[in-house]
Amino acid sequence: MAQYNVTGIVLRRVPYGETDNIITLYTRERGRVSAIAKGARKPISRLAGACETLTCGRYNLAGGKSLDIVTQAEVKDAFPSLRKDLSRLAGAQYLAEALNHFVVEEDAHPDLFTLLRAGLLLMERADDPQTAVRWYELRLLELAGYGPDLCSCVICGETVPRDNASQTDIYALSVANGGALCTDHANPNGYEDHAALTFDALDYLQHLNAHGLEHIRAVAKIPSPSEATAGLARMALRRTIRWRIDGDLRSAPFMDSLLSPGRPPDETSPHQSTVA
Ligand SMILES: [Zn+2]
Repeated sequence: MAQYNVTGIVLRRVPYGETDNIITLYTRERGRVSAIAKGARKPISRLAGACETLTCGRYNLAGGKSLDIVTQAEVKDAFPSLRKDLSRLAGAQYLAEALNHFVVEEDAHPDLFTLLRAGLLLMERADDPQTAVRWYELRLLELAGYGPDLCSCVICGETVPRDNASQTDIYALSVANGGALCTDHANPNGYEDHAALTFDALDYLQHLNAHGLEHIRAVAKIPSPSEATAGLARMALRRTIRWRIDGDLRSAPFMDSLLSPGRPPDETSPHQSTVA
């Protein structure tokens, strides 16, 4: 049996049989890999800790008939602060689920691994976990090839916002085209594809988008915006992701209920009817 070593983060863990787990890892070296961890649910298993969801570890795997087998595992980072805070844990589960929708088996993309690790560190430390999630969504879309152009209108190419912009201007994000719309072309009431953005919400997303993977310390310090701005930014990116994956993220409603409890209950309904 061919053996190989990978560094990975456990995206999912599913109990199998009486004492086994099937784990889905996102690895730096091979992208997504699924493997069986035999006996990992026994109380004294050496594999148990490293096979917990949202744990980063070093794994030795052996090629099996249908599934690879975890032969050794060592915890690198268990992100202990996440486990003490339900809302941050819910956010971290959302990050893992979102990434899982954008990747396929055995397609290495080391930047996605770096992003997931950065996202989990941010969920532990960020002043505003909701801002950390928005930043992660922007980076995930970009690395998947769908990063929205937030600085110019996708229809006319004009820079947004204009130099003489007013705080009351209404912009939008075109969910299907993945880009901003200027005040002349944004029509959130007329087109379901247009997710409304106020001046402040556009500014907030532009500011987040300017922070690359190397800027996580700065992202951790970005303060939370107003509830209205946060809500519009969340809706615009959520709808963009839903459009790209053609479905819903199961962990999103629980995370939203903890990280943004003041959100209007019907905010996700208009688009669901066409995409979900
Ligand atoms: Zn325009």
